[in-house]
Amino acid sequence: MIDTPEVYGGLELDKATSMLVAEKISTVGSFSVTYSPHTGIGTAALVYYGTKEQKEKYLQKIISGEWVARYCLTEPDSGSDALGPRPPRTLSADGKYYLLNGTKQFITNGSFASLYTIFAKIDKEHFTRSSWKGTRGAVGGGRGKKLGIRGTSTTQIVLENAKVPKENLLGTIGRGTRSPSTS
Ligand SMILES: Cc1cc2nc3c(=O)[nH]c(=O)nc-3n(C[C@H](O)[C@H](O)[C@H](O)COP(=O)(O)OP(=O)(O)OC[C@H]3O[C@@H](n4cnc5c(N)ncnc54)[C@H](O)[C@@H]3O)c2cc1C
Repeated sequence: MIDTPEVYGGLELDKATSMLVAEKISTVGSFSVTYSPHTGIGTAALVYYGTKEQKEKYLQKIISGEWVARYCLTEPDSGSDALGPRPPRTLSADGKYYLLNGTKQFITNGSFASLYTIFAKIDKEHFTRSSWKGTRGAVGGGRGKKLGIRGTSTTQIVLENAKVPKENLLGTIGRGTRSPSTS
């Protein structure tokens, strides 16, 4: 709730407060790695770029903890090189959905989260993000074995013609890498 505007049920506190809470929680390794993608990267794009309708539909459930968020950027061939080649998303024949294919890699909260903030390229070049409460077409892999922070869920998500409604795009097509100050 800390970073979410009051109008959507949040506390609308400042970033210093948010950092203080993150710092305190960081001493509890696995919990902190579960909590941060949910409250931070998994929710931020919705707060910054979501339309009023998207926020009303999703934010309340996210900040109350009813739903958990996950952030899906990394792919097997695209880690540090986050803008690297990745499968395009194409519009469905009826023009209502983007169809996503490919694999997301190392996704925290992958096995149990409800809401995806997901990145893909439209027409092979326009890097774009969207918010999606999807299940059809997305299959979570088993919980990966790790050397540390073993209490977290880190999985692959396999997308096979996963249908993301057009109205779920977050922000402008092709501006998925922009921060609020540059978009
Ligand atoms: C526990 C865990 C949780 C994660 N959770 C998420 C998540 O929730 N969502 C998500 O999208 N991603 C997540 N990730 C993925 C993470 O963001 C990537 O692992 C990260 O971006 C690095 O990508 P990579 O693993 O493919 O490594 P690579 O990009 O292949 O890098 C391997 C090594 O090469 C080095 N390297 C890479 N490029 C260069 C270069 N140009 N010059 C010099 N050195 C270079 C790197 O520093 C690194 O040492 C998670 C990862 C882990 C380990």
